[in-house]
Amino acid sequence: MNEKIAIIGAGLVGSLQAIYLAKRGYDVEVYERRPDLRKAELLAGKSINLALSDRGWKALDGVGIGDEIREMAIPMNGRMMHDKDGNLTYQAYGKEGQAIYSVSRGGLNQRLMNIAEPYENIDYFFDLKCKDVNLKSNEITFQHTQTKEKTTKKFDRIFGTDGAFSAVRTRLQKTNRFNYSQFYLEHGYKELTIPANEDGSHKIDKNCLHIWPRGEFMLIALANLDGSFTCTLFFPFEGKVSFESIKTDSDVIDFFSEYFPDVMDLMPNLTEDYFENPTSSLVTVRCAPWHYSDKVVLMGDASHAIVPFYGQGMNSGFEDCTVFNQLMEKHGNNWDEIFKEFSRDRIKDGNAIADLALRNFIEMRDLTADPMFLLQKKIERKISDKHPDKWTPLYSQVTFSHEPYSEALANGERQDSIMKQVMDRHDIFDVWDSDEIENEILRLL
Ligand code: FAD
Repeated sequence: MNEKIAIIGAGLVGSLQAIYLAKRGYDVEVYERRPDLRKAELLAGKSINLALSDRGWKALDGVGIGDEIREMAIPMNGRMMHDKDGNLTYQAYGKEGQAIYSVSRGGLNQRLMNIAEPYENIDYFFDLKCKDVNLKSNEITFQHTQTKEKTTKKFDRIFGTDGAFSAVRTRLQKTNRFNYSQFYLEHGYKELTIPANEDGSHKIDKNCLHIWPRGEFMLIALANLDGSFTCTLFFPFEGKVSFESIKTDSDVIDFFSEYFPDVMDLMPNLTEDYFENPTSSLVTVRCAPWHYSDKVVLMGDASHAIVPFYGQGMNSGFEDCTVFNQLMEKHGNNWDEIFKEFSRDRIKDGNAIADLALRNFIEMRDLTADPMFLLQKKIERKISDKHPDKWTPLYSQVTFSHEPYSEALANGERQDSIMKQVMDRHDIFDVWDSDEIENEILRLL
């Protein structure tokens, strides 16, 4: 009899992993606690769009579905920084032709389900919440979210792709020597919208990720296919200028007029959106190991939930699918080896991207408005253009390469210490483009 595999969570990673496993001939059942996203109106006020980049594309191309997803993606070639006076500064993300891509999270999830469901050996079950996993018998107890009826089913393998608050992980937390930590930022986020022009066109450049960096907080905007932009305000929960301090329509107007004046005209529904859309928190989850014997494994946010500031949460989850598939290639049906090696080797990369994402918050909200930072990026770009074999900017290592995140982090730290020495020169603004600076960097390398 064929192995029976349960995937808990029909999110982005669960649906992609189902396709990977089905292609290898396994019988896959995907269980989702929510109703079918394709039928229900679940997306109101939660129209998150995500930046999809090379690691994600590789995983999608790995099962031949990249092109179908490209149809729904908008390339963003660089960041557009908006200062308080409405002045714009553009910074390319990578080399000519390199881009990250804006995709709707809900739209992508639906598309993945539509691709997965026709497989004869994939079955989706909705409204069924995983309540517990019996690690001895490998049985899962589900509860129907409407009828509250409980059922139990046995599987050969269980994949926990049930997101940052994973029920599967919660079960593993009760096993011996399981490490777990969660860390909440003092900032939360709220989605706002820039609607399309009447003719359906975008109000601002759709091929940029727009950032309004303001030190302690920031606003970003990513384009949607329908001409609108989903904006996200990352803002402290508490304090003088915070979610807590904004209570009325006029507080919202005053705040936006002071800090984001150029956005005011673009958001006719600002106050409604502000009060109707939820304020959500941002958590980093780390745990180890990511498996339990050869029975249960965690992937995606369930094992490494990260803050969104490097645009790598989904990309890293998709890369889990690539890495896992390579291990299946290597070890065949030896699940014990696959799970062990996945857990042992991949955790350091999960931790590295968690660290990088936390650091990038400071870079995005603060440094993108800093002339020293912009100069540093300019120097790095010059060195990388002239000596691509010697210097790849950290952002490119993370976003446009498949180098393990842990190695990108280590390289980035080495490069940063070199750049600190160079940027410490009092005359750096005058000499940044000189041979002297270039040679100094090459010497320090
Ligand atoms: P999820 O997408 O959370 O899916 C988990 C699924 O499991 C859900 O469908 C849930 O309903 C289901 N589930 C949960 N519990 C149970 C249960 N007990 N039983 C059954 N089903 C269950 N990533 C990027 O790569 N780029 C970005 O630009 C980016 N931007 C982001 C911006 C914001 C504001 C946020 C919050 C996240 C962003 N991310 C980004 C991260 C990205 O959204 C996540 O990393 C990604 O969705 C994780 O996919 P997943 O499948 O692991 O988990």
